[in-house]
Amino acid sequence: MDCVFCKIANGEIPSKKAYEDDRILGFYDLDPQAPTHILLIPKEHLSSVREITPENSGIVAHIFEVAAQLAEELGLSNGFRIVTNCGEDGGQTVPHLHFHLLGGRSMKWPPG
Ligand code: AMP
Ligand code: ZN
Repeated sequence: MDCVFCKIANGEIPSKKAYEDDRILGFYDLDPQAPTHILLIPKEHLSSVREITPENSGIVAHIFEVAAQLAEELGLSNGFRIVTNCGEDGGQTVPHLHFHLLGGRSMKWPPG
């Protein structure tokens, strides 16, 4: 499949890895929006949050567990943000489910 994050997951496209296990990958965003900006993806292709079902939703819990662990390891003790963009209005540019882990600066609310 012609999906950039599938290619990162299978090593066809290089990335700077922050975390990997058999089910998920964490890698640094090419265009960081905060001092720490990591993307966490399932290795299995899901296009967005829209494809989360009762059968596959365990991967989301796993991603959040790893995100919290990474935030701790990376010293984001003052807080951090986890974001997933969905569809055009959500600002999603890569159609493979991913969660942004952002930290190292104070975040604004609401987001733009
Ligand atoms: P989104 O706009 O929520 O779909 O997020 C996609 C993110 O992927 C953006 O923050 C991009 O900077 C990032 N991105 C796109 N291609 C790559 C790549 N090859 N390696 C790392 N990050 C990427
Ligand atoms: Zn994919």
